[in-house]
Amino acid sequence: MDRQLTLMVVHAHPDDECLTTGGVLARYSDEGVRTVLVTCTNGEQGDGEGGAKPGEPGHDDAAVAAKRLSELRESVSLLGVKHLELLGYRDSGMEGWDGNGHPDAFANVPVETAAARLAELMERYRPQVVVTYDATGGGGYGHPDHVQAHRITVAATELSGIPAKLYHTAMPRSSMKRMFEMMRESGLDLDFEPSDDFGTPDELVTTVVDVAPWVERKLKALQAHESQGDNVFLWRLPEEVRQAAFSHEAFERVLDRGDVSPIDEDDLFAGLRD
Ligand SMILES: [Zn+2]
Repeated sequence: MDRQLTLMVVHAHPDDECLTTGGVLARYSDEGVRTVLVTCTNGEQGDGEGGAKPGEPGHDDAAVAAKRLSELRESVSLLGVKHLELLGYRDSGMEGWDGNGHPDAFANVPVETAAARLAELMERYRPQVVVTYDATGGGGYGHPDHVQAHRITVAATELSGIPAKLYHTAMPRSSMKRMFEMMRESGLDLDFEPSDDFGTPDELVTTVVDVAPWVERKLKALQAHESQGDNVFLWRLPEEVRQAAFSHEAFERVLDRGDVSPIDEDDLFAGLRD
């Protein structure tokens, strides 16, 4: 039986696709898996012209959204993603920002409403594997739109009954620690010190995918999102740190219908190939 393997990755904002899933999107696309990226919001609360934040002069929601969606299209083509689906919700902004209260903000949309739309996409593409964030928005990140993306993906998975496996993206604490040590050793000036509970507890990680040959593509996709200043430090990492930080992507498997996954999995489609 020849069936089309399909990977669906659900993210909150334009640019989120790169860091934790850019490698698997590029790798599986190259291997002939059909890849679908669902981006839930337009990213209106991102940086505007000259780095202007929402509410500051020079920040225009519509212009930011247009810019970010064009950056997203470039990123997606660099990663070889076959289908980009935009849910088009309004970016809620970081936790505590004024944008949180906007009635149209993604985080304020009833879960069942957005989940029904995502379930329709699952019906259309019939992905065996779906990836999104954990309940904290990804290793404790806490962004309201990331938490909401998690909620609607879990709900749509249940509603549609389609994905055989559901994964959360993971940033293992031990790798995070190692990466920050390497950054310090290489003399990078960090204005961010990760707390001990930053990242995903190592014991939750079920799956690590080697994406070393796709590191450069991942970096180029990240650079396509040039309007977002928070990403810039990632482009400037010394080569060895970049390889160490970007060459593997880790996941926590939270659903495995039929119990097909081996222990120590290195492939999201393990157990699902003919
Ligand atoms: Zn995001």
